[in-house]
Amino acid sequence: MTKRSQNKRSFTPTNWKERWFVLSPENLIYFDGDRQSGRRKERGRVELSRVVAVECVNSVVFQRDYVFQLCYLSEEKEQYVLYIAAVSGYERDEWLGYLRRLVAANECLSDWYHEGAFIRNQWSCCKGGKDVAACTAVTWTINHNNNPPGHPTPSPTPPNGPLSDMMPHRKVVVALYDYNATTVGDMSLRKHDELEVLDDTQEHWWKMRNIKTKEEGFAPSNYVRDQGSLQQYDWYLGDATRHRAEVLLMNQEREGGFVVRNSTTNSGIYTLSVFSKHLPRSRPQVKHYHIKKDQEGNYYLSHHIKCPTIPELIYRHQLNPAGLCTRLRPISQGREAPTTAGLGHDKWEIDPSQLNLMEELGSGQFGVVRHGKLGSLHVAVKMMKEGTMSEDEFIEEAKVMRQLRHQNLVQLYGVCSKRRPIYIVTEYLCHGSLLNYLRDNERTLLNNTAVLDMCSQVCAGMEYLEKKKFIHRDLAARNCLVGANSEIKVGDFGLARYVVDDEYNSSGGAKFPIKWAAPEVLNFMRFSSKSDVWAFGVLMWEVYTCGKMPYGRMRNPEVVEMVQSGRVLEQPRYCPDDVYSIMQHCWTPVAESRPSFSEILIQFMNIADE
Ligand code: ADP
Ligand code: MG
Repeated sequence: MTKRSQNKRSFTPTNWKERWFVLSPENLIYFDGDRQSGRRKERGRVELSRVVAVECVNSVVFQRDYVFQLCYLSEEKEQYVLYIAAVSGYERDEWLGYLRRLVAANECLSDWYHEGAFIRNQWSCCKGGKDVAACTAVTWTINHNNNPPGHPTPSPTPPNGPLSDMMPHRKVVVALYDYNATTVGDMSLRKHDELEVLDDTQEHWWKMRNIKTKEEGFAPSNYVRDQGSLQQYDWYLGDATRHRAEVLLMNQEREGGFVVRNSTTNSGIYTLSVFSKHLPRSRPQVKHYHIKKDQEGNYYLSHHIKCPTIPELIYRHQLNPAGLCTRLRPISQGREAPTTAGLGHDKWEIDPSQLNLMEELGSGQFGVVRHGKLGSLHVAVKMMKEGTMSEDEFIEEAKVMRQLRHQNLVQLYGVCSKRRPIYIVTEYLCHGSLLNYLRDNERTLLNNTAVLDMCSQVCAGMEYLEKKKFIHRDLAARNCLVGANSEIKVGDFGLARYVVDDEYNSSGGAKFPIKWAAPEVLNFMRFSSKSDVWAFGVLMWEVYTCGKMPYGRMRNPEVVEMVQSGRVLEQPRYCPDDVYSIMQHCWTPVAESRPSFSEILIQFMNIADE
């Protein structure tokens, strides 16, 4: 990371120096020198027991991203601030998390700090002078009630609001699923447990305290929800599409089975989807009702029942149809627990002796993929054939990839990297690759809304990667997988960079995915989220042809010529015009003019709701 020089008054870029930081339970020490040769010289250290606050910094001040600060007391009890810039938000959050854990018991911790920096003799945040009290409430929970002696008292009326609003408040959440901890420092959860959040600085793993048992530890943040939010109810599906709701309810075949989801067309509006077999003159089907709100803010489905909250309204309709096609009945099978980002807050190296390896699932670019189990968890294990990838670089990168978590991405759980061949351990999906699935189910899929749903699921996973500024580089139906209830997940994201194979890596190579490549990739190997969008268009074409090879038997040079002359794939027989027009947008020759994944997702929702 880089560190700002502490004795310079001005803010020039040269005041920032690259340093090698080492954190021990007692000290944060920084070194200069050559990382490769290992000759490093200590340039300074902060004793952790003197730390008063560990916080982010308002980035405008330094015109740098990902800056955080360590406020600490000198021996003379004077306050100093060390500013450090990490290379990514993720790296910064990790440091914040580790530092906070080590200083959490400090007597001298403050509830207040300066969000800005001290420039031209004043704090940029509150415009106060050198000795003015800190103005901003810290962003994490500190467990002491009174200010310990010898540290600055916060000003009684902080500039931006009354004191009560600024005090770090207690956050209480409810567990949605059972979770069995597997790593030291992690904590198991039972559904409906109430927990206080102690540290939410890591995105996917929060430190919590069980309110009843007082146990403390890390647990997956996606397994809990704010108390009082709809998310804690089994029947609430969040952003699921109309089609997802239909698949789920039709599979259950329970009279009156229902879910509530956010309306795809109107934000802030909810839709109730109900299954019924007994509708007059009709086959079993799912009906959708908007949950309306009257002027007093009461929710209602029919004019017979109005309630101040949605859970109450649902409860009343469970007793009585009151205008709906049937009485509501909870579906028996609750939501399945989602994947976690890795297998523990601090665990990502997996001991191969704990893996129970089972049948072979297939083989690909890197070697064999096998089904396996880690305890009760189903996993897929990629055994990386030696010499097929730059392993060290991949292992570094996988730490970042593990932090990517979305319902439409194949979750990376961890690696076995201590011996060769290395294993990559991911979530297991029971129906295998999307390409084979399309080919095997051609009859039932064509002419069905299921294909549109597949495309929008892939698009949702890609929208997440786009937001995280992560480029896939090899998006195609063969790299997506299909799970139970026809969920689709995108896999192999980013792996292409670590392949050691000239046939794969250059656009002239035999294994290079030419048929999915955008013009700027063919010409300059210029990858971006927009080149992923091009590949997504080709993937849509694969879906709508149930797994045909794009450009048929054309050979690579002919494909390149065709793409460069501006011609694109033809409209598949069963593909409606509005869907084909999305594909055509994806194949806009100029990368910058292509739509983003979030724009495409909105188009899908509009089509699905027609
Ligand atoms: P590679 O990336 O090395 O080319 P693939 O990812 O294509 O290998 O995997 C080869 C085959 O293994 C796939 O076609 C699929 O059938 C199966 N497979 C891979 N990952 C999984 C998984 N997570 N769950 C289920 N099957 C998988
Ligand atoms: Mg693959």
